Amino acid sequence: MQTKYIFITGGVVSGLGKGIAAASIGALLESRGLTVSLMKLDPYINVDAGTMNPFQHGEVFVTVDGAETDLDLGHYERYTNAVLTRRHNCTTGQIYDTVIRKERAGDYLGATVQIIPHVIDEIKVTISEAARLSDNNAKATTAPNADICIVEIGGTVGDIESLPFLEAIRQFRHDHGKEHTLFVHLTLIVQTSEMKTKPTQHSVGKLREIGIQPDILICRTPEILSDKVRSKISMFTNVPENSVVNGLNVESVYEVPLMFHQQELDNAIMTYLQIWTGSPKLQPWVDLIENYKNPHDVVDIAFIGKYVAHRDSYESLNEALLHGGIANRLKVNLHYIDSEFLTKRNVFEQLELMDGVLVAPGFGERGTEGKIVAIEIARTKQIPFFGICLGMQMAIVEFARNVAGIEDASSGECRPDHPENVIDLMPEQEGQKETGGTMRLGSQTTVLKKGSKIAEVYNKTKISERHRHRYEVMNNFVPKFVDAGLTISGHHPERDLVETIELSEHPWFIGCQYHPELQSKPLKPHPLFSSFIEASYANRQTRLNLLPKSKKTTSTSNA
Ligand code: GLN
Repeated sequence: MQTKYIFITGGVVSGLGKGIAAASIGALLESRGLTVSLMKLDPYINVDAGTMNPFQHGEVFVTVDGAETDLDLGHYERYTNAVLTRRHNCTTGQIYDTVIRKERAGDYLGATVQIIPHVIDEIKVTISEAARLSDNNAKATTAPNADICIVEIGGTVGDIESLPFLEAIRQFRHDHGKEHTLFVHLTLIVQTSEMKTKPTQHSVGKLREIGIQPDILICRTPEILSDKVRSKISMFTNVPENSVVNGLNVESVYEVPLMFHQQELDNAIMTYLQIWTGSPKLQPWVDLIENYKNPHDVVDIAFIGKYVAHRDSYESLNEALLHGGIANRLKVNLHYIDSEFLTKRNVFEQLELMDGVLVAPGFGERGTEGKIVAIEIARTKQIPFFGICLGMQMAIVEFARNVAGIEDASSGECRPDHPENVIDLMPEQEGQKETGGTMRLGSQTTVLKKGSKIAEVYNKTKISERHRHRYEVMNNFVPKFVDAGLTISGHHPERDLVETIELSEHPWFIGCQYHPELQSKPLKPHPLFSSFIEASYANRQTRLNLLPKSKKTTSTSNA
């Protein structure tokens, strides 16, 4: 089947959940047996998201091939089976970079290089390339195209920045025809004393000004639109009434595919694109929501990081922890703790009622000492501990200082050129000046030690996980760690790099240099998160059983 393209734009305000909408449409189409690919077009001039501040831009999602991309790619992978690569996130910066390189190479044969046609043509080529499916190694260059390629355009209609992308998708319909392209527009119904449709009318008006008539409107609304409001929207926007969909607020983001399906959005898409499939197989999503909404108990997890005021910065990690809860039919209460404010004096009171402690990834020195004191409590009080990337690095510093007798142990990220840096840059990285795209990035193999806890959790000894970091464990200190009782449970097979650590004399103490959260999905929770939540729950039961009845707590959620 020739690939069909669904373009998703957004209007009125940003942050309406276009990424979740795109991912949910992907899930619905896959449930009908179609193959999907998804891409995000980002209007900013940065070449990729790698150099962007997590406070401003949220998490940087790393693809199998090591691209540092927008967090929406995380939603796409969590909801679908698509394996995304650097081809699936394109920024204005990348487009201009390519066009200017081509111009310098003389590829335009003396033509005046302009937005139309050169920039727009480059965008169109990029969109077509995103339709190609990747295999798990992301190396396939001859892979077939997906049946459907869903393309989300970042930003809000009306911004100057996104105009070239909108022009490109307008032309795309002109080039490929109506039955191969579909325009979905996400807008906001503003509720005052009544439902206000004017902003939606204006936003669609803006799109139509540039030649795009949306086929489907998804209206974010706190309650179901009345027939009167729907017909008003339809009349003013020229979108048929049955293509005006309620984008309702739901308890879990994973309910969105079902919420769309109940309104027959997938049927409408099939009709527009003239595709015939059997009925969708949505039972796994139904079971997932059933499970999510009916946990048999709760578990309290301390989530220790530096960007905790900005939850988007840890999008995949938040989700992976919830997936671990779903796997155990438990509600995970995440207690976000800013490591900058943790000290030896206050750490115990903050962690004493926690069932598990997770120390998050991060960059820079700020907050690292707080992470170290938290890890010491988790280690000595036998609280299940999970350290990811910087979290693992700090677990090694803690162990070095407090167990292995390397009193001044630190990391090169905190104390450059210090002789007792147990974590540092590798010699070949010294002097590297560029910050963009210079980390150890993307999927790499780790070989796990037979008989280790982590090998038991994965139930195999060869795994592939995604990396994003600059610093490594310094191998000259490893014998001291091992003598003091630390297990080095995972290695890079060729480069002799430490990838995972654990403590055998502890109920659950695991650190990994990679980011397992990037591969966790609600329908396929990552084993490390399922196991961590399971161990934390076991700890909770022991803890509560040990307490006198009067002191047993039922904690409140702040997840
Ligand atoms: N800042 C650390 C490094 O660059 C850890 C990075 C991370 O946690 N992703 O190695």
